[in-house]
Amino acid sequence: MLNFYLGNIADSNHIIIVIIFLLIKLIMGIYAYTDSRKRNMQSIMWLLLVLLIPNYIGLIIYLIIRQNDDYLNCPNCGFKVKRSYKVCPNCNQELNKICPSCKKIVKDSWNVCPYCTEILKNNIEDK
Ligand SMILES: [Zn+2]
Ligand SMILES: [Zn+2]
Repeated sequence: MLNFYLGNIADSNHIIIVIIFLLIKLIMGIYAYTDSRKRNMQSIMWLLLVLLIPNYIGLIIYLIIRQNDDYLNCPNCGFKVKRSYKVCPNCNQELNKICPSCKKIVKDSWNVCPYCTEILKNNIEDK
């Protein structure tokens, strides 16, 4: 029964299965490429690794390394901090600009906090 099953796949559906596997690989490659681009990682290298390393190991390696990339070093003391931290837990260095009203992380270039509509004063004063 098993022989019949395997033989049947090899005869008639083999090409379809190969195409499906290639499509899954391609989707994984595109995912790694776009995701690593967002994180300023070497996206072309990751695309090639995911496509060329068999059994999806490339993607697994990418996911493991990507997690580590969410950490960076504090610019003041070198302590390992998460990208989402507001201040360094070791030396209290400000890592991200914080909205004075809702305390959410905001970007330097923003004039108004999009979460609570607070005017971010520093940028207004600069003008
Ligand atoms: Zn620090
Ligand atoms: Zn706010």
